[in-house]
Amino acid sequence: MIQTTQNSLTFFKFSHLARYPGVLHGIFARTGGISSPPFDSLNMSTSVGDTPEAVGQNRRAVAACFGNRPLFFLNQVHKTGVHVVDAAAPAPKQPDGDALVTATPGLLLGIKLADCQAVLLYDPVKNVAANIHSGWRGSVADIIGITIKTLTQRFGVNPADILAGIGPSLGPCCAEFVNYKNELPPPFWKYKDKSNRFDFWQISRHQLMAAGVPEAHIEIAGLCTRCRTDLFFSYRGEGRTGRFAAVIGMPDKTLK
Ligand SMILES: [Zn+2]
Repeated sequence: MIQTTQNSLTFFKFSHLARYPGVLHGIFARTGGISSPPFDSLNMSTSVGDTPEAVGQNRRAVAACFGNRPLFFLNQVHKTGVHVVDAAAPAPKQPDGDALVTATPGLLLGIKLADCQAVLLYDPVKNVAANIHSGWRGSVADIIGITIKTLTQRFGVNPADILAGIGPSLGPCCAEFVNYKNELPPPFWKYKDKSNRFDFWQISRHQLMAAGVPEAHIEIAGLCTRCRTDLFFSYRGEGRTGRFAAVIGMPDKTLK
């Protein structure tokens, strides 16, 4: 990943997506915002106990890194709802859902995170972007495959053209599932070590490939949120804490 600092915010870009001027994106570190502990400081979520004023200012600071374009979020519910966004501005109430898709340049898709994965997708051929929230429930339900199906059916995307980035999240070092036999299906069990720690990065990589994304188009951030609470919020590591942002969109004028 490529680390960038802008307007005193730090964010990370996937190197393959950064090569395309047709995509705006970043995974934001938790620093540089205005929220007080335990939400310090660039918290994106209004449902963890932080003040709406602080969250609003933090969200505006993130959008400012991309020319103040409208930034959409969902009320994430760990299910498989995919929202296609084409409106000019976010509705006051966030819709329920766990994946955002747009073919409209100038809109920013945001996912809020504290250990779950953001999976960013971009198709440079059809110029379509998606941002997926995939926690373990999303992995079990294959929200990655469901979102790619939406891209294919609604926008004629060929999965072979998709570039995918798997963001910082609970790593194979920390994703212990003691009740995995009740929570995770048998096909996932080969991704665990002797301590019942699962490699959800590899699970997502295989789900992307099963949906037709070429292996060479997949980049894994490889940063564990629980190990790196200096950079990211971690629900497992901290309990009551904030949510960091993963953002993707396309500029309204094609940059040359
Ligand atoms: Zn870890």
